[in-house]
Amino acid sequence: IYPTKQLQERDAAHHIHPFTDTGALNREGSRIITGAEGVWLTDSDGNRYLDGMAGLWCTQVGHGRKEIADAVYDQMRQLDYYNTFFKTSHPPAVELADKLAQLTPPQFNRVFYTGSGSEANDTVFRMVRTYWDLMGEPKRKHIIGRWNGYHGSTLAGTSLGGMTAMHAQGDLPIPGVHHIAQPYWFGEGGDMSQEEFGLLTARELERAIEEIGPENVAAFIAEPIQGAGGVIIPPETYWPEISRIVKKFGILLVVDEVICGFGRLGTWFGSDYYGIEPDLMPIAKGLSSGYLPIGGVMVADKVANAFIEKGGEFFHGYTYSGHPACCAAALANLKIMEEEKLVERVAEDIGPYLQKSWKELGDHPLVGEARMVGLVGALELVPVKGDRSKAFTPVGDVGTLCRDISFNNGLVMRAVRDSMIISPPLVISHEEADMLVERATKTLDQTFDRLKR
Ligand code: PLP
Repeated sequence: IYPTKQLQERDAAHHIHPFTDTGALNREGSRIITGAEGVWLTDSDGNRYLDGMAGLWCTQVGHGRKEIADAVYDQMRQLDYYNTFFKTSHPPAVELADKLAQLTPPQFNRVFYTGSGSEANDTVFRMVRTYWDLMGEPKRKHIIGRWNGYHGSTLAGTSLGGMTAMHAQGDLPIPGVHHIAQPYWFGEGGDMSQEEFGLLTARELERAIEEIGPENVAAFIAEPIQGAGGVIIPPETYWPEISRIVKKFGILLVVDEVICGFGRLGTWFGSDYYGIEPDLMPIAKGLSSGYLPIGGVMVADKVANAFIEKGGEFFHGYTYSGHPACCAAALANLKIMEEEKLVERVAEDIGPYLQKSWKELGDHPLVGEARMVGLVGALELVPVKGDRSKAFTPVGDVGTLCRDISFNNGLVMRAVRDSMIISPPLVISHEEADMLVERATKTLDQTFDRLKR
């Protein structure tokens, strides 16, 4: 038994939390999670929650898998730590790199290891610019991302992402980074059809490239489906048009797979789902199901060959690039995913099963749209059913209220503005999926009642 109040007081006294209002945390205290098993979390008061977010979109194989703990323990006893700098390597780093080359699309045969998705995107930033230097086109410095995209919290990650509140803290983005509109039809599509809006937002890339000057543009970066931006599922016309534009101008395509990778959409990668051919692919999260911190950048042969053939050192790396214990965790995680056929399960079984009842929540009077691909979904909460042009004011209060009610109903959903997000572990059972929807329904009813008062 953990003394909740005491832990909360010490937490508030000594711990500054990420993405948290520190003042509110000091007033209200944190929720202390003490254990987890499968899709279930337990807090310090013994309450149980269905982890509808797989932690932070990462615990693909569910919590408490002994196979991963054992693999890490064995690895630590064999080789606790060694680095991968200066031409050294070790078996887990080699084995994982080989495995990733097998699982990723065919143009990828090499990985650059990082400790997180943010570090992966910092690596992308420097790798992209270095690639064009090596290719003798040093003017190509400009990188285009999207408004409301998320690529992490480091300087390059924040810059490449399009979260204006994040840019405001630290005077970002870094010069040379530009942003175009997101394909967020529900919120920004007006009277257009989804297809038209997909084309319009994709063509913003062409417009931006022409404005910056095609000879100055290095790369475009985007998530297959924007996660932290609110599970923005692009219209069908979007990715084919982006691919056409990227090819037309010969710029690098960076597809951030940190959320969509490792089975989330019912394919190994979001790029497989949309038929996209990236040159660089940041990965993290589901790679180890979050058991230990590890990320990486998958590097297509085209880019890797420039580094191999032109020679010279890439002055970049992290103490924990390819950490042996983290690689062992990732290998054990991928083994579970393959043995339990979790990707196929999302495509053919649990994905369609949960999507059906989730989409039925679209009939609720508080919900303007219920969308889901694979096992990632969103509910758009609206003040006027059937009218996409009306939003709650101020934006975000209803989402926060709904998230808190959901917690009290034993379900973790995330609020992004006024939409509710789920991204459960890929091992969620049919019965647990039913519970998720029951709890979400109760939460919507209670939120709706509160708003009527
Ligand atoms: N890229 C995407 C698409 C993400 O969703 C995230 C995290 O949520 C990141 C990058 C950053 O990853 P990390 O939090 O591991 O640094």
